[in-house]
Amino acid sequence: MNFLMKKVAFVLLFAVFCFYTIAVSLSYEDRAAWKDDSNMEKVINSLIKEMTLEEKIGQLTLYTSDWDVTGPTMRSNYQEDIRGGKVGSIFNAYTAKYNCDLQKIAVEETRLHIPLLFGYDVIHGHRTIFPISLGESCSWDLSAIEKSARIAAIEASAEGIHWTFAPMVDIARDPRWGRISEGSGEDTYLGTLIARARVKGFQGKDLSAADSVLACAKHYCAYGGAQSGRDYNTVDISCRELWSTYLPPFKGALDEGVCTFMSAFNELDGVPCTGNKYLLTDLLRDKWEFKGFVVSDYTSINEMLNHGIVADEKEAALLAFKAGLDMDMEGALYYKYLPELVKEGKVSVQEIDTSVRRILEMKYRKGLFTDPYKYCDEKREKDYVMLSEYRNTARDVAKKSIVLLKNENQLLPLKKDIKTLALIGPLADDQKNLMGSWCAAGDWTKAVSVMEGIKSKVSSSTEILYEKGCDITGSDKRGFEKAVEVANKSDVVVVVVGESADMSGEAASRSCLDLPGVQKELLMELKKTGKPIVMVLMNGRPLTISWEEENMNSILETWFLGTETGNAIGDVLFGDYNPSGKLTVTFPRSVGQIPLYYNMKNTGRPMDLQNKYTSKYLDIPNTPLYPFGYGLSYTTFEYSSISLDKKEIGLNDTLNVTITVKNTGKFDGEEVLQLYIRDLVGSVTRPVKELRGFKKVNIPAGKSETVTFEITAKDLAFYRRDMSYGVEKGDFKVFVGTNSSDVKEAEFRLTESGIIGEYSVTAPTANRSAIASRYSGGFLSNLTQRLQPESFYIEC
Ligand code: BGC
Repeated sequence: MNFLMKKVAFVLLFAVFCFYTIAVSLSYEDRAAWKDDSNMEKVINSLIKEMTLEEKIGQLTLYTSDWDVTGPTMRSNYQEDIRGGKVGSIFNAYTAKYNCDLQKIAVEETRLHIPLLFGYDVIHGHRTIFPISLGESCSWDLSAIEKSARIAAIEASAEGIHWTFAPMVDIARDPRWGRISEGSGEDTYLGTLIARARVKGFQGKDLSAADSVLACAKHYCAYGGAQSGRDYNTVDISCRELWSTYLPPFKGALDEGVCTFMSAFNELDGVPCTGNKYLLTDLLRDKWEFKGFVVSDYTSINEMLNHGIVADEKEAALLAFKAGLDMDMEGALYYKYLPELVKEGKVSVQEIDTSVRRILEMKYRKGLFTDPYKYCDEKREKDYVMLSEYRNTARDVAKKSIVLLKNENQLLPLKKDIKTLALIGPLADDQKNLMGSWCAAGDWTKAVSVMEGIKSKVSSSTEILYEKGCDITGSDKRGFEKAVEVANKSDVVVVVVGESADMSGEAASRSCLDLPGVQKELLMELKKTGKPIVMVLMNGRPLTISWEEENMNSILETWFLGTETGNAIGDVLFGDYNPSGKLTVTFPRSVGQIPLYYNMKNTGRPMDLQNKYTSKYLDIPNTPLYPFGYGLSYTTFEYSSISLDKKEIGLNDTLNVTITVKNTGKFDGEEVLQLYIRDLVGSVTRPVKELRGFKKVNIPAGKSETVTFEITAKDLAFYRRDMSYGVEKGDFKVFVGTNSSDVKEAEFRLTESGIIGEYSVTAPTANRSAIASRYSGGFLSNLTQRLQPESFYIEC
């Protein structure tokens, strides 16, 4: 075909696509509910008919561009691969122009003109950087979290991105693991709600809208359970733990319509997640009916060799593909071996078509077959990136993410007309680290430092004396003397210390969680001056700061707050915002306590200080330094006792739990009331507390607010002995409080047992043999249990 004919063919093909898409235009409800779209079927069917095997496998292949790289690069000639139809999606590429140029190659220079899908790690903002996800979760503000994801999606899509590798929904209980910074903390209930809010924010109401990006629930599954907190390490958890703790946020994301899943690096029960048929097919497809596509993590198919589950690359490709993994990220193994595997009859063309269809469907739903250049609009890019309104929202989310850990004698808020303020510490005048890890296209030069933030707050007569004191890491103490000198001259010391951004995130595990370098020694020197000290912390994980808790007068946990860091910290330091953040992860006293989380079990020998042979340490208390849900305010709140409208409930009843909170201090303030339950006796042991509700309320000084929580049987359900999801009659405690340890409590009784069907892992006995044959020989195969007369089949 000469060039002219090619052009004509291209235009004709496009006209057909456009006709189909316009003829059947979908409402949001249709898209959100993943309803069948007969036009989509037709378009994709006709395309699949025309595709060669190589072109099909191209659609299952994802390569990084050389614009930005987030791991080892395998393909330097990816542009040639696009031209040859050998790659269907590209990641780490952005800006309207750059992506448009690549899209042009796919659309105008390939045989079938199939547009590329562009992915990127837009984790906590794209250009306007929001707080790291762990920080943001401490706002307990689902609409603020959704809004931050929405803005990230608007900016990313304006720069040519169709798909974000977020949200990361891994529950994490081990702060040694650097990726704890990317998630929403240790709690499954809260983590599930946040997962849903983020999916909603990224995808928006219409997947085909120019400001929507496909979301990706990652890392499926249980990546956060890495042994010893060491990244990529083995995960070995019980089936009950998998279902109770790690899976629910993925199910929540799926229920919210998440379009893609990413398989995790780790193994689960001896099988790497990337080659795990139970996870990728039996559960995700057959049970949960997920209709989108699954991408591997970065070269995670190749890494199955290191796991020792396959002998060579070809086996790795076969295992992953047969397990149900649709797209190979960067590993180039589908590209290399699927053609051969098809020839050998080990993989069928129909199986390939199924995965190709899932990916093409997403391209279709994104509207790329109607207009492949929809996301390449340089004007949109100018108009919709880093708007002041986005920065304002980032500032709002950032201040809500700050947690006040200590405030001795109401040192905070500071007066704006303070005479002399010593600003000390390696992060006090820093911009780069404020962005945190995974900061996408964030430009650190646009970040507001703490120094700037403070300057914009204080009166013109205030003198700010700055000294760095020391670096974040390293042992050089030469700056101590000058730091002490300025501290001595000041009325108050604000010292900004913590980790560097790259000490958390991927491949950033730590064995010691103290402040790195000589920062603690700097604090010790400053303490000797006798000046009041406000410690501002920046970090991507809980740190062990018992000495600091004892010796600093006030402590603000600020995580990495992103572009508006300095302004948000300034707002809090000087009382323009009364802090309301609450920890979503426990702060241990010592690394030796890890894992330490609020919803542990009671054990057979709960701690008793009078009795040596009980569950405790010889050298430190069992309790955390700061519990889950903890966070102070400039005001004080007093909780009434709990009142219940009944003492007993049945399966269809609602229990109203009412409590009144009074703002007894001098500032208006927001409080996050937290509701926990405890099932006192179960067919399996139950956690000492479980979050089942929360409400964030704004209470003016001196006023009270009465809040009623509703509890139904669903809130009391769990995976019972037979792995059915349901409730068991008996006595419960209900707690309401300002954090997970400081609570009021009451008791009630559930009078009936029953199944809360949709979440059960088990299938009724009648289906057992059918299911057993389906799984026979496979991973997590036929375990049967006869613990109860009605005996259930246990799928894992
Ligand atoms: C990370 C993923 C990320 C991917 C692409 C991997 O190393 O584990 O979270 O989405 O790289 O950058």
